[in-house]
Amino acid sequence: MSELPKTGREWHLVARPHGWPKPEDFALREAAIPEPGPGQILVRNTHMSVDPYMRGRMNDVKSYVPPFPLDGPMDGGAIGRVLASNAEGIQPGDHVLHGLGWREYAVVDGAHAAKADPDLAPLSAYLGVLGMPGLTAYSGLLEVASFEEGDAVFVSGAAGAVGSQVGQIARLKGASRVIGSAGSADKVKLLVEEYGFDAAFNYKDGPVAEQLKEAAPDGIDVYFDNVGGEHLEAAISSLKVHGRITVCGMIAQYNATEPTPAPRNLALVIGKRLRMQGMLVNDHAALRPRFIEEVSAWIRSGELKYRETVVEGIENGVEAFLGMLRGENTGKMIVALGD
Ligand code: NAP
Repeated sequence: MSELPKTGREWHLVARPHGWPKPEDFALREAAIPEPGPGQILVRNTHMSVDPYMRGRMNDVKSYVPPFPLDGPMDGGAIGRVLASNAEGIQPGDHVLHGLGWREYAVVDGAHAAKADPDLAPLSAYLGVLGMPGLTAYSGLLEVASFEEGDAVFVSGAAGAVGSQVGQIARLKGASRVIGSAGSADKVKLLVEEYGFDAAFNYKDGPVAEQLKEAAPDGIDVYFDNVGGEHLEAAISSLKVHGRITVCGMIAQYNATEPTPAPRNLALVIGKRLRMQGMLVNDHAALRPRFIEEVSAWIRSGELKYRETVVEGIENGVEAFLGMLRGENTGKMIVALGD
């Protein structure tokens, strides 16, 4: 294995952010690459994912995933090419999806790596439209919100990785009306003109409640929440009797330094008999085969479209993450690390 690289760069969290993370909270460090042990593989990461949930892992609080350690490598979804393998069924040259991102090279247990075929889809798609965000959209709409044909669906964060797929799946499954909100005029245009939403608005243009009522004068049956806060309150007002809310994310409050207020109209949940349910994508792994089959067929037929924002170079990884929190991405934010 003498020709294998001995060191590689990796991002460490060096201070826990208070409010918006600052570049000084992170350090890009050169680290030794251990030789893969029995059952392990050495992977050259070609793409890594930066995701909103990673902000929560920067805090030292108990949650459904442990916090990132200080002065150690961060982790997250990544895909790469196998350079060396001691794992059965995985050969050098294979491409694998795994959980040790934020670094150029990763030594991964073969049992924690899934093979990905670059001939079936571009590698980055396994981190987005055919990966974790895609399954979140699919399961959050179809399983958690119990979507039914004829439902009117509102999704926030609608030009992002999860939201853009929620709206399109709703359309393809026979929604009566699909409404989306996003943070720029270009994104709003994309939702209507390319993704086939019936209506969309820029939440920065005015009160969400007013814009939603205008876009959905007859009300909504399902709200897919990626944002929380003002969006959630507006959706509760617009939901019809027996409406359902999938609480997928609340990105509007991930950098809050004070506890955020609850929707002021929460009592409407009673009279309207609303169902509000949180979700974690990992609970829905059983849906993956059906999700891959259905979504890849829609991509092939051109019925489902997706965008990615690709930032080049591991040195720009933190900027890509912060840019995603600021809304600089359209679709999945990906960091390309080279071959
Ligand atoms: P994304 O939507 O591709 O990127 C994040 C987007 O959030 C930004 O592009 C920005 O778009 C929007 N945003 C940022 N601050 C905002 C604010 N204050 N108000 C409204 N929008 C804001 O990210 P994603 O990966 O698809 O994730 C979307 C949501 O799903 C997140 O809340 C995430 O935590 C959640 N999620 C949950 C699960 C789960 O299992 N529960 C899994 C995956 C993702 P604009 O330009 O439109 O502002």
